[in-house]
Amino acid sequence: MPDDDNYSDLDGSSYINMVYAVNDSNYGIPESCPCGSQITVEISTKEAGIGKKYFVCKDFKNDGLHRKKEWNEAIEDETRRLKEKIADNEGRLCSLGVLEYQVDRIDKASQSNDGNIAHLGYQIDGIDKAMKENTDEIAQLG
Ligand SMILES: [Zn+2]
Repeated sequence: MPDDDNYSDLDGSSYINMVYAVNDSNYGIPESCPCGSQITVEISTKEAGIGKKYFVCKDFKNDGLHRKKEWNEAIEDETRRLKEKIADNEGRLCSLGVLEYQVDRIDKASQSNDGNIAHLGYQIDGIDKAMKENTDEIAQLG
């Protein structure tokens, strides 16, 4: 994990980009801090926010490059994200249902084609026999 000296080596725009990246990925329950450190749950003992729970980087510094997120907010985000995921999966299941129905119809159409092909074969056999009979009659006429 980089220390403060490394951060001060960054030019202003890379620092701002990193802060943006940290904020962009700040959704749901954080699994790790962008700095690579673990997230722990901390309960505030400061008077203003006493009892407030936070997901916070084990190596938190207030420089915009570490994760610190209110527990309630993270849980709300995560719940919203999971709900969206479930809705998305339900949509996919519906599409699968439609596909299943289509495959079933293709199966039935294919079975009906098999029947038609068998029937055509039978008709060709009949035409073959009729042609042979005609050929025999023509031969007898000659
Ligand atoms: Zn961190």
